[in-house]
Amino acid sequence: MKKQGCVYLIGAGPGDIGLLTLKGYTYLKHADVVLYDRLVNPLLLEHASPQAEMIYCGKMPKKHILRQEAINALLVQHGLEGKNVVRLKGGDPSVFGRVGEEAEALKNAGVPYEIVPGITAGIGAAAYAGVPVTHREHSLSFAVITGHDKSPAGEPLIDWKALANGIDTIAFYMGIGNLPYIAEQLTSHGRSSETPVLLIQWGTTGKQRTLLGSLGTIVEQAKADHFKNPAIILVGEVSKLKEGESWFESKPLFSQHLLLGRSSEEMSEIGARLRDKGAEVFEFPRMQIKKQLLREADIPVHHDLLFLSPASVEVFFASLQANNMDIRSIQGEFYGLSKKTVKALESYHCLARQISERDSNASRLVILGDAGWIGKEELLSFAEEQDFIVTHAYDRVPQTEQTFRRLRDEERMDTIIFPNARSVETVTAGLQACGESPEMISSYTRIICFGEKSKQAAVRAGYTVHTVLAQPTEEALLEVLLKKEALLEAALS
Ligand code: SAH
Repeated sequence: MKKQGCVYLIGAGPGDIGLLTLKGYTYLKHADVVLYDRLVNPLLLEHASPQAEMIYCGKMPKKHILRQEAINALLVQHGLEGKNVVRLKGGDPSVFGRVGEEAEALKNAGVPYEIVPGITAGIGAAAYAGVPVTHREHSLSFAVITGHDKSPAGEPLIDWKALANGIDTIAFYMGIGNLPYIAEQLTSHGRSSETPVLLIQWGTTGKQRTLLGSLGTIVEQAKADHFKNPAIILVGEVSKLKEGESWFESKPLFSQHLLLGRSSEEMSEIGARLRDKGAEVFEFPRMQIKKQLLREADIPVHHDLLFLSPASVEVFFASLQANNMDIRSIQGEFYGLSKKTVKALESYHCLARQISERDSNASRLVILGDAGWIGKEELLSFAEEQDFIVTHAYDRVPQTEQTFRRLRDEERMDTIIFPNARSVETVTAGLQACGESPEMISSYTRIICFGEKSKQAAVRAGYTVHTVLAQPTEEALLEVLLKKEALLEAALS
């Protein structure tokens, strides 16, 4: 029987990727095809399956836009092919998101679909600016209004009198171009020109910017400040609750867009902590592990073994099982390159030590690790090259290139961090696949290296290195990131 497909029309939230619902996230993880909009944070794409096909529905480089009819047709086509299709839309799909048209097209074609709500920008951006849209003392009602319609002048036909007098908090979407018209309509229909107005651009993202004024002043302020869409115009008494930096804007790493260079060893834990401190972190390039189970004849039973990573431990034990071998047939001692790898060995109830504790005169050592280590100098002090057994390899996940391009084009990349020399290699290969070079990326980002080795590798590859950490630690990295202004000034002078 033919597999039944389904199309999931999902709200991605206003920007912060953590604002996607658990349901939306689960569907995204298992999607065969993902169609995403311009306002969807590109970092969300990194959570799709490595095999998923990604289709961008926003503006293309030559201002070409995938039209709504074409999007509908693609949704129907992939749905009929029996695929799991995710349509990721900014904010909530039902709020100025044309989800009605997409759902209708799917219904007419007999393709099953679901709608997964999301957090709409009017509420999400306001919350990240520190403003609740309702408040027992300031606002008992809230409306979302389009600031633009499809009429030739684009000025929305609204019952302005009712709106100006009947609703406490009004969130206008797509309204910056019509701000003079909106302010004028509200005041001429009876709303006080003293009414506070808050503009929030790129809310909930590292690019969030706000501007506070009143119906009487905001037009001039927005002009002077070159305020642009995407932005919410929040009109009402609650707007004055924005005082200074909001809880979000005062996070220590707010507004920093970091590209964390990834080697095959995971850096994700550092990435997660930097995110907690308010940074947007792109771990690049995304890698996919390809395990290579060992044949019985290739499993060394008489020698001491050095495991280079937890993944090599995992493949080794999976290989024993696949070959029906008992762990007691292995006579050598076990060593791990890092503490983490030692822990991985211990989780299989094997005693293990870090390699630095091994007597260098001890007997022959066989190394198990991923192919990227072959021929690396660091290993030659432990063993001969022929004593290396490949347990796995890493492939670059090609869609990461789309994520990279979207982030670059949206100017959401200001710092590159190289935790080690190997990450320089993998990032450079990833950049090449994106048509970017170390020289080019150095012109719009600052480059931070954890130590001398990574610095040398980066310079050799063609990067301009701005900072080498005093210590190769997360604390030292934070110290440098927190001194952002000082650093940028130094770079410019
Ligand atoms: N479905 C979306 C709205 C799409 S219309 C939602 O529910 O949020 C596009 C408009 O949404 C933009 O012009 C802007 O007014 C608003 N918008 C979307 N994301 C935003 C953000 N991160 N910050 C401020 N406004 C945003």
